[in-house]
Amino acid sequence: MFKKIIIVGGGIAGLTLANFLKKNNFNNFRIYESFEKKLTRPTGIQLTPNAVRILDFLDSRFFLNNNFHKINYLSINSLNSRYFNSKSEVRINLQNIVSDKMPYLTCDRNILIKFLEKNLSSKEIFYSKQVVQTIKDHNIIRVKFNDGSEDYCDLLVSADGMFSRSRLDNNIISKTNFYAYRGVLKNFYSKYSLENDVIRLWLNDNKHLVSYFINNQNDLSFTGISKSSEKTILASGETNYSIPFPVDQFRTLFSSENKILREMLDTLHEVYRWPIFSLKKRVFYRDNQIFIGDSSHGTVPFQAQGAALAIEDSYVLYEQINKNITSNLGVFYFNKRNNRVRRIILRSHLNVFLFHLKNPFFVFLRGIIFKLIEKSFLAKKLMFGWIFNYNPRSSSYFF
Ligand SMILES: Cc1cc2nc3c(=O)[nH]c(=O)nc-3n(C[C@H](O)[C@H](O)[C@H](O)COP(=O)(O)OP(=O)(O)OC[C@H]3O[C@@H](n4cnc5c(N)ncnc54)[C@H](O)[C@@H]3O)c2cc1C
Repeated sequence: MFKKIIIVGGGIAGLTLANFLKKNNFNNFRIYESFEKKLTRPTGIQLTPNAVRILDFLDSRFFLNNNFHKINYLSINSLNSRYFNSKSEVRINLQNIVSDKMPYLTCDRNILIKFLEKNLSSKEIFYSKQVVQTIKDHNIIRVKFNDGSEDYCDLLVSADGMFSRSRLDNNIISKTNFYAYRGVLKNFYSKYSLENDVIRLWLNDNKHLVSYFINNQNDLSFTGISKSSEKTILASGETNYSIPFPVDQFRTLFSSENKILREMLDTLHEVYRWPIFSLKKRVFYRDNQIFIGDSSHGTVPFQAQGAALAIEDSYVLYEQINKNITSNLGVFYFNKRNNRVRRIILRSHLNVFLFHLKNPFFVFLRGIIFKLIEKSFLAKKLMFGWIFNYNPRSSSYFF
């Protein structure tokens, strides 16, 4: 049994792990988070059924008591399509893919963080404590902070995101050509009827836009991703998603003939932009240090699975700790996670290609594939079943 666990980073991965440890009476853990505790600007997040299932292990039917929003359909359209419910729209019913009926949710990221923070005490989670160095000393790891203080543990969990300092080798961070643009339209009422259980995906060459409601107050989140001619660079502060972007430039970038999209973009007052990075290789463990979430396998956000993978990682790691696996923990964890993470990353990269196609012939072919997925239950299962039905408590997850 580990005597003490330190978790670096209080994002979705670190908080989920802490919750499972606490729920199952492992009380000797601490989370250190570099930022002070405060709610950030609203940002939408999609929680696919594989993530919801694990959060449900933590708190059964949590989504009934909190401000989570249920999604039933994925609508795919072209950014250039003039009409909203045009023939070119593909509408995939997501409800009948999931065998145990776990819902597909969207929410404001703050709601998820609040849900994960609520059971942790000030003796368990420490804010404004940035880890600046970790030193291995036999079986003990010494952890140093920016205020000069130190702590120690016999298991270090790095949940400190894409730019993880505790990973030590940051030359595995790869620049991409993509920038993400995000915003939330508060209380959005459309003069066109807009169903609120639909995620809308608009595609165009070298860019796409995703929008969905994040609560029952009609707050509408949108995320645009566009390819730039230059590789991404990181200006200071951008890891905190806080660089405002001129709204008129954003409107020009995602200009559309579609009346609903135009209505949305005209209503906008704030857009934030930040660069997308990914990791060149996956890192799961090093001696008695384990990596979870983006610090382990951060990738491009083209399949809405980053947070979901972080939640899966946390549960699987907790399970191994709970089984009292100490000597080869990293190996067991790697064996459980590597294949799944690799496949999700591959899918995300396939979507980079699929979403941003330019060539009209390939765009036509893509339309046929999407129509097939819309109409054929088997094609839909093949596309989404293995992602959504993942259950770490069961060996079969395809159906
Ligand atoms: C545009 C975009 C849209 C996305 N949409 C979705 C979506 O819809 N669904 C989905 O599942 N995923 C989505 N993702 C991915 C998802 O946001 C990430 O994969 C997820 O947040 C990773 O969680 P994490 O806890 O591993 O890392 P993070 O959320 O990055 O958390 C890391 C934490 O560690 C802290 N930290 C860092 N360094 C230190 C240090 N030295 N000391 C102490 N603390 C430290 C940070 O402050 C932070 O709080 C999206 C990503 C992007 C870019």
